Amino acid sequence: MKLDQYSFEDPPEAQRLREAWGRVLARISEEGVTETVYRRFLATLCPHGLQNGRAVVNAPGQFVQEYVTDRFADRLQAYLEDELGEPVRLEVRGTPQERPKGTVPREKIPAIPAVVETTPFTPLPKYRFDTFIAGQSNRLALAGAKAVAAAPGTKYNPLFIYGSSGLGKTHLLHAIAQELLSRNASYPLHYITAQAFTEEFVYALQNNRMDKFRSMHRGVRVWLLDDVQFIAGKDKTQEEVFHTFNSLQSEGRQVVLCSDKPPRDLLLMDERLRSRFESGLVVDIQMPDTETRCAILQSKAAQLEIRIDHQVAMYLAQNVPGNVRILEGALTRLAAQSSLLGHGVELESAQEMVERYYRATTVVKPSFDQILHIVSRHTNIPVSDIQGTSRKAPIAMARHMAVYVTREITNDSWKHIGSLFGNKDHTSMLHANKKVREMMNRDKDLNASVRSMICDLYPEGLS
Ligand code: ADP
Ligand code: MG
Repeated sequence: MKLDQYSFEDPPEAQRLREAWGRVLARISEEGVTETVYRRFLATLCPHGLQNGRAVVNAPGQFVQEYVTDRFADRLQAYLEDELGEPVRLEVRGTPQERPKGTVPREKIPAIPAVVETTPFTPLPKYRFDTFIAGQSNRLALAGAKAVAAAPGTKYNPLFIYGSSGLGKTHLLHAIAQELLSRNASYPLHYITAQAFTEEFVYALQNNRMDKFRSMHRGVRVWLLDDVQFIAGKDKTQEEVFHTFNSLQSEGRQVVLCSDKPPRDLLLMDERLRSRFESGLVVDIQMPDTETRCAILQSKAAQLEIRIDHQVAMYLAQNVPGNVRILEGALTRLAAQSSLLGHGVELESAQEMVERYYRATTVVKPSFDQILHIVSRHTNIPVSDIQGTSRKAPIAMARHMAVYVTREITNDSWKHIGSLFGNKDHTSMLHANKKVREMMNRDKDLNASVRSMICDLYPEGLS
């Protein structure tokens, strides 16, 4: 398989594909795909190029490619045609293995854009501080972001915000940029997702443009790095992030990072990077409570000029399961339906919509028993041994994997997970989890095996 088989020479088309792809994923994510499936599979796909009715999207390996093709190909294809407004043939590829020798780091990199152009960052106008609704769940993150925007590089440096997908992390990064640019339109800042950083980095390496790449990232006063979890398991990229970080910090420049996991749960090759991430303020964003969800809905409705009663907003806030992005999707779906049907947003239509689209797609988390059975099936270690106390290596390893998978799936506290494993203390749970993470980082087979356990626990991706 030759790399040039994948080359696309048309940057505007690639850009059009990237934009359409973003909308395709947003639509799929609103349909009740579990967060694990979304994060581990869909979000790792990288649009590569579009030419002659052929759209190529790269997956970071064969495993992801097969999983996505099996379960999502039809929908991805249909939505992509819809978003592009023309027929296309979608090809999801595993990352090509053969590359020109010596030019690419050994790690698997999902995509190499044909051209990387850097344009000044324009934050989305709707993502501002005044459109961000404060609540108990996000108060600290919001305060941290505002403090950074008020006086970059002085107080919380770095600021590390973490939380599940769809809870407003990217919104806050844009809001910081918006605020700084509103005071000075040419304020030297840079926003980039870790995924784009990786792509640009690989491109720069391959094309002898490292100097330009470095001066671009290190020459700013504020550096906003989104979706940091993406660098997990990518050693060369992590190294570059580390050096970028050090260079910025030594000059007193502000760094803000967002991630779906806290620094301690990221797969990092170097402890020093983790301690850098933790050296400023680390804050989380949680799922908002019902009142905040209701206030967010009303604010979004006002922005979209949709009239909605408090009672209807409250009903949606209570009954649409999932994150804020899904909640927003429900509002726009309801508004579209209502205007199609020629009546206002009424409680009855909200109830109908919830019954029809959201009750059925509520994903039930697998139980602890199911987790134990899947781990047992994959490792051939009986459930009773996994729950037992034997220290024999294969049994202990299966137990460690079970701890890891339980945490990934339930996100329960270590204390609670310890109690599930026979009242073990939380440090032994942490230790087991760390061990598996480290091994997954080193051992591709183990990595694939743990991932397939997680897939088996969510057999359909969607319920
Ligand atoms: P993340 O980056 O955490 O995945 P986003 O920042 O993309 O999430 O947010 C998803 C959507 O939810 C966006 O449209 C964002 O405006 C909205 N959102 C999340 N939290 C809030 C909030 N507290 N107030 C207003 N909108 C919010
Ligand atoms: Mg985001």
